[in-house]
Amino acid sequence: MGLITGFEKIARCGEPLAMHTWFQLGGPAEYFAEPENAEQLIALVRRCHEEDVPVRVLGRGSNILVRDEGAAGMVIRLSAPDFTKIKVDGQEVTAGGGAALGHVVTTAVHEGLAGLEGLIGIPGTTGGALVGNAGVHGSDIGQWTVRTTVVSQTGEVYGRESDELDFAYRQSNLDEIAILEATFQLEEDDPNELARRMQKYWIAKKASQPMGHQCAGCIFKNPRGTSAGELIEEAGLKGTRIGGAVVSDRHANFIVAEPECTSQDVLRLIDLVRSQVHDRLGIELQRELEIW
Ligand SMILES: Cc1cc2nc3c(=O)[nH]c(=O)nc-3n(C[C@H](O)[C@H](O)[C@H](O)COP(=O)(O)OP(=O)(O)OC[C@H]3O[C@@H](n4cnc5c(N)ncnc54)[C@H](O)[C@@H]3O)c2cc1C
Repeated sequence: MGLITGFEKIARCGEPLAMHTWFQLGGPAEYFAEPENAEQLIALVRRCHEEDVPVRVLGRGSNILVRDEGAAGMVIRLSAPDFTKIKVDGQEVTAGGGAALGHVVTTAVHEGLAGLEGLIGIPGTTGGALVGNAGVHGSDIGQWTVRTTVVSQTGEVYGRESDELDFAYRQSNLDEIAILEATFQLEEDDPNELARRMQKYWIAKKASQPMGHQCAGCIFKNPRGTSAGELIEEAGLKGTRIGGAVVSDRHANFIVAEPECTSQDVLRLIDLVRSQVHDRLGIELQRELEIW
């Protein structure tokens, strides 16, 4: 029996991943699936576990670079309506792991619930945001998260409460295969005031990053007390190019992919930036971008 036997409606082989990522680069997934509900997801995770095939969940691919040769194993997207629901109950907002973060933020603002509005403009899904504790300027998604429901590598489903969740700068201890759902406890506020605040954040965010280009988010994490973008600029690397990959002129911690760019170009440019910043400024940059 093949790995996807019985899952033909939701799974296929050799799906190109470039179109599922912000960089729009890289090769195919060996196996790819978009389950319709949690039962199908769990059955698929169990099958992969039995067959010893690694599984990864892809959000919107805004923090991932897929290698040119593609990704081995099973890649799952939680794109079906069952995974993208958003519910509001009093001061709690519960969102599916596949729900767009922007949609969660605007729902909360519309309901007069404050906390998440600073995250407006961060692309991706709730699941992706939780794994990397997405945030801006000292505010992050983890600080509002009170509960998650996850699927383990063996296909077990369980809840994790806030005392079992650790969030730090661009990291969390959510290391299960899939985040199905998360609940955020927010604070009541005036919806009009909140909407104004959100709009201000949105304008500032748009002004700070390259628009209309193929890119992911920040390539490197900010070292304590300083900004990776400023260090890269200080090292004189703005505009540096390898093949079709260029260090952005707008924000040096972004790499933009021009037509003809390959993942290998981006990987080589990342190595170059890291080694030059180290040689010129003595600081070791840590990658924020995930490589698949
Ligand atoms: C223009 C731009 C601006 C950005 N600005 C910011 C910013 O201001 N702040 C910031 O923190 N980030 C920023 N990012 C980075 C990125 O948007 C965030 O990291 C985002 O949270 C990633 O979400 P995603 O759904 O795209 O995840 P992906 O990139 O698809 O995946 C990231 C990780 O999460 C895992 N994952 C995704 N969904 C699930 C799930 N349901 N269950 C389990 N694991 C899952 C993946 O396996 C992978 O390990 C920016 C990116 C871009 C392109």
